[in-house]
Amino acid sequence: MEYFDVNLDLTDEDLALKEATHKFAKEVIRPVAKELDAMSAEEAIAKNSPLWSFLQKAYELGYHKMLLPEQVGGMGLSPLQASIVMEELAWGSFGLALQISVCSFTAMGPVLIGDEELIKEFTIPFCECTDGSIRGCWGATEPDHGSDLIGMGEPLFYEPGVRCNCSAKRDGDDWIINGQKSAWVSGGTISTHCMLHLQIDPSKGLAGWGVAIVPMDLPGVSKGKPLDKIGQRDLNQGEIYFADVKIPGKYMVVGPEMYEPVMEGILTNANAWMASWATGLARAAFDEAFSYCKERVQGGRPLMEHYSIKQRIFRMFARVETCRALARAVANLNFSIAPAFAEYSMAAKTVTTQLCLENASDAIQLLGGNGLSKEYLPEKLFRDARTTLIEDGNNEILARHGGHNLFHTYPRSRSSINRIR
Ligand SMILES: Cc1cc2nc3c(=O)[nH]c(=O)nc-3n(C[C@H](O)[C@H](O)[C@H](O)COP(=O)(O)OP(=O)(O)OC[C@H]3O[C@@H](n4cnc5c(N)ncnc54)[C@H](O)[C@@H]3O)c2cc1C
Repeated sequence: MEYFDVNLDLTDEDLALKEATHKFAKEVIRPVAKELDAMSAEEAIAKNSPLWSFLQKAYELGYHKMLLPEQVGGMGLSPLQASIVMEELAWGSFGLALQISVCSFTAMGPVLIGDEELIKEFTIPFCECTDGSIRGCWGATEPDHGSDLIGMGEPLFYEPGVRCNCSAKRDGDDWIINGQKSAWVSGGTISTHCMLHLQIDPSKGLAGWGVAIVPMDLPGVSKGKPLDKIGQRDLNQGEIYFADVKIPGKYMVVGPEMYEPVMEGILTNANAWMASWATGLARAAFDEAFSYCKERVQGGRPLMEHYSIKQRIFRMFARVETCRALARAVANLNFSIAPAFAEYSMAAKTVTTQLCLENASDAIQLLGGNGLSKEYLPEKLFRDARTTLIEDGNNEILARHGGHNLFHTYPRSRSSINRIR
């Protein structure tokens, strides 16, 4: 259905973008996501998989560069436009919305640090790519460190002697990388480049890490099997291994001196987009339940004419509006100031993911037995939504970190805000 937008000041450009993305989500993303969801993780990345035609179409339309500024060839979307596009893509499928977005991670690094040489080497070719052949990923989580990585400012983050699974050592002007990342790296086994988090200075604990751009065709890089999982099965994930991988010094884009604020910034951005994607999923669940309740007859009348059904549908509608309001507010705030306020993104991510799960669950309940069948969308939405409570940080760990920020940064002062838009 065409879902109303309460934001009355959307421009013609915003509305056209929304409509075009919705069409792409409906006509391309939905059918491909359904096919990928039914395949094994290996089949989903095999040569004849529909994943590749999806990526090609997405790149042709420029969705891979939606988060990059116009100066480097990106779409140059406003925060509100980006939130609208993300919501529509995830209405199509959460997993594929994430897949296309994570492709830009490596290209974004040089822009964030303003390194012209690296922008020419990595960002511009990525923006010019129209066939999906340049694909980035974000390798932070390790087999032995998941939630630990979200401890910026907290004592656990500075404990020396923490053994990390992936590290870099200086070798003259170069760096040598050894170790591995966990199977949770999104797009890990299909990536051509990785924005890799690694340990540099063990004496500083988790704060002694850095971030490097690592082309995946370098000698010593290998990949594990793609991961099979309950939800977001259309999102490729898998381990990456590094055995004496040599990178030039300039590829180490963040050292320990800047690691902490950079990690906080990455999480703040990613959590803000998670909220827009969760909104798309919550809306998809609402749409399924709404249409079904208009058609299905029980007790001699369509479900929609029963009193309690109206209440149940209304609760789902209210959740969509809550998600959307939070997601847009956080995108507007955190992509307009530097440094951004992580606790707002974390509030949006934790609340919207919980609400999208509730909507997916209610959609199943409203469809009755059909809700459990693979013939209908809600069961996929439910599995996809369940996954959101863990990705980009377990919700309870994000709540802990958000709470830490509240105690250590409040009250926020308006005069300390640095506007970048
Ligand atoms: C779909 C998806 C996509 C992802 N994409 C990426 C990606 O692109 N790149 C990447 O690097 N990672 C990615 N991740 C990894 C994700 O960020 C981690 O899974 C998440 O941070 C949790 O880490 P973990 O799985 O190791 O769980 P753990 O950290 O082992 O947590 C297990 C449980 O213990 C609890 N817990 C952990 N620490 C504490 C503590 N100190 N106190 C109390 N309780 C605690 C947690 O809340 C959780 O319930 C992705 C994950 C998913 C599911």
